[in-house]
Amino acid sequence: MRPMPVWYHETYTEGIDRSARFPRDRYRLLRKRLNHLEGTGLIQILNSEPIDKATLLVAHDRDYVERFLSGSLESGEIRRIGLEPWTDAFVPRTMRIVGGAVEALTHVTRYGGIAGNMAGGTHHSHRSFGSGYCVFNDLAICALLARDKHGYERIAVLDLDVHQGDGTATILRDEKSIITISVHGEKNFPFKKAVSDYDFPLPNGTGDEGYLGAVKESLAIVEAFSPDILLFQAGVDALEFDALGNLEVSKNGMKIRNDLVFSFLDRRTPCIFFMGGGYSDPIKHTIDAFNDLFEAAAESNASYCNS
Ligand SMILES: [Zn+2]
Repeated sequence: MRPMPVWYHETYTEGIDRSARFPRDRYRLLRKRLNHLEGTGLIQILNSEPIDKATLLVAHDRDYVERFLSGSLESGEIRRIGLEPWTDAFVPRTMRIVGGAVEALTHVTRYGGIAGNMAGGTHHSHRSFGSGYCVFNDLAICALLARDKHGYERIAVLDLDVHQGDGTATILRDEKSIITISVHGEKNFPFKKAVSDYDFPLPNGTGDEGYLGAVKESLAIVEAFSPDILLFQAGVDALEFDALGNLEVSKNGMKIRNDLVFSFLDRRTPCIFFMGGGYSDPIKHTIDAFNDLFEAAAESNASYCNS
């Protein structure tokens, strides 16, 4: 059995300033928490390398990319992204996060199965600006690379984070070979929604039944489309303890969601998953939910490789 690779780097945490509102410790804590899966041989944690500038340009305007890299974004653009005050490590952090996602894509293209990045799912990033903790859109970059570099013909982007994948929807709007599906809180950020190929807006307080019902409907759409690769934004901010979620899904409901997605895969379709949001206070609930996600992915990956 080939272990499921997960890309990670300490800059995922260290590249965000200690005083930022964002719960930066989630990466470090999850890395530690996943020791048990590493010990069983189910996953392998690999160092992510920074992406090159040219790869970013598949989904982003050159001007935006260059201004970000040279530290010359305007203060309003920086505020829109959040995560300030920025540190010297913020640019390399951003490049490593995209690098991890692209390496996961290359891996599943070569070997099949499931691979993940222990960060990212930066779905609020648009072609020429970032927002909501997202600088570059790793989902859109991977979807376009999957088509243009790796020859995939049918690509599905499934976004189950509580916030709509507005940047992904906008960047990929005219791409016929790529479908975007977003299940999200209708009253939550971003307040001006984009139009995905399929949107499932849910009211505040939806709970397990309504959320899982929408997940099942979204999977039926994926099934009908019959993709040759699935990109899964697996945010856990629908969780009832989440400070930004408002969907009130239980921890068990989130586990059922993960199983629905991974058991839906037919043991042939490659899948890469992106961590997405999670803002529980205390952070323990978010770490638990991410641990459940990586565990479900790793177990599913093992059944791929054995069949
Ligand atoms: Zn979110």
